[in-house]
Amino acid sequence: MESVYAGKEDCSGCGACFSRCPEQAITMEADEEGFLYPKIDAAQCLDCGICRAVCPLLHEGHYKEQELSRFYVARHKSADVLLQSTSGGAFTALSDAVLRQNGVIYGADYDEDFRVLHRRAETSAERDRMRISKYVQSDITQVHAQIKSDLKEGRMVLFTGTPCQTAGVRAFIGDSPLAKKLYCCDLVCHSIPSPLIWEEYKKLLEREQGAKLAGVQFRSKKDGWSRANSNKGFLFRTESDSRLQEDDRFYHLFFKVGAITRSSCSACRFTDLQRASDLTIADYWGIEKYSPQWFDPLGVSLIMLNSVKGADLFARCKEDLLSEEREKEESLSEQKRLREPVQLPPERSRFWQEYKQFGFAHIIEKW
Ligand SMILES: Cc1cc2nc3c(=O)[nH]c(=O)nc-3n(C[C@H](O)[C@H](O)[C@H](O)COP(=O)(O)OP(=O)(O)OC[C@H]3O[C@@H](n4cnc5c(N)ncnc54)[C@H](O)[C@@H]3O)c2cc1C
Ligand code: SF4
Ligand code: SF4
Repeated sequence: MESVYAGKEDCSGCGACFSRCPEQAITMEADEEGFLYPKIDAAQCLDCGICRAVCPLLHEGHYKEQELSRFYVARHKSADVLLQSTSGGAFTALSDAVLRQNGVIYGADYDEDFRVLHRRAETSAERDRMRISKYVQSDITQVHAQIKSDLKEGRMVLFTGTPCQTAGVRAFIGDSPLAKKLYCCDLVCHSIPSPLIWEEYKKLLEREQGAKLAGVQFRSKKDGWSRANSNKGFLFRTESDSRLQEDDRFYHLFFKVGAITRSSCSACRFTDLQRASDLTIADYWGIEKYSPQWFDPLGVSLIMLNSVKGADLFARCKEDLLSEEREKEESLSEQKRLREPVQLPPERSRFWQEYKQFGFAHIIEKW
């Protein structure tokens, strides 16, 4: 087999093909934009077709099932949890319910250099590191085998991630009896930025500050949680200055220019109500209009229950979460990414050409 995918829009980098290849003939390699794609070693490839059969973007139905379609507004009871979460702390409540059952959590974390990658958590301290949306594509390649091994040991597993990553995990585990204890929670996903541009941006901050980064936080609530503030509030600190500083240049490239997004996001297969997950979590945008008593400047979550399993897990969160069922039309009214994929800007290829030719300093100055 020459390639698993036909064009860049047909691969989200979920890694299912890489993890399922029986010959380990596939490696995940970064392209010139820093996004991971599978590469087949022709000398090792048996041409068995497993990689294409498992790929969630090629698979008919994309591993989606729809047993339920119920919508809730929710907010964690702890103000402290709200402050340390992106939205209303749904992730913390769901993951605590799994940890109480001696289960395992998978989610996006940082390594010591603030690269974004998926990790495994068995304690609330490890889970806490997964809180807060990180607007960089996480490297998921190491966790598939760990998930399988946890399931084989009979552990309950909660996987959290973007919808395409969640479909990849479902594809990897398949219909085997192991899937019974696998709970998948995806996000409403705007799109995902380039790890290479994130690396460049961190280096730029370190050069300007003359010190290594010691902490980063997307989506801080320093000005409160609201739609208007959702693309603001990136904070960082360095080893030489413990004060939190704000900088909006990465956000600008992501949300305003839009050029650092993965190509496959413009053809995303996961922007509808048929989900490849048991639950979907998001910001409850617009709640102040429909039910002002639910608005909280510390954050409010939208939780979608997509399966009976998802509803069971949600029911176990009662002691931590305040919630109320809401009408579908209301819940979806401000969720564009549940209707259509993001559009890539027409100047995207010029952006990357200029980056290649002139480097990041030029890009950040000009764009
Ligand atoms: C790239 C991205 C785009 C998003 N787009 C939208 C949107 O358009 N509309 C909307 O309403 N909500 C969007 N969200 C979801 C929202 O920002 C919150 O992540 C979600 O509501 C959970 O908040 P919380 O308070 O429950 O949990 P938090 O405690 O903030 O938990 C964060 C959760 O996000 C996961 N996560 C964080 N970063 C990543 C990453 N890079 N890749 C995969 N998983 C990650 C963690 O594993 C964890 O499960 C997006 C999130 C991400 C990461
Ligand atoms: S979407 Fe996933 S399974 Fe499909 S080619 Fe890309 S990495 Fe492989
Ligand atoms: S927009 Fe779609 S393809 Fe892009 S990261 Fe999100 S789920 Fe994956």
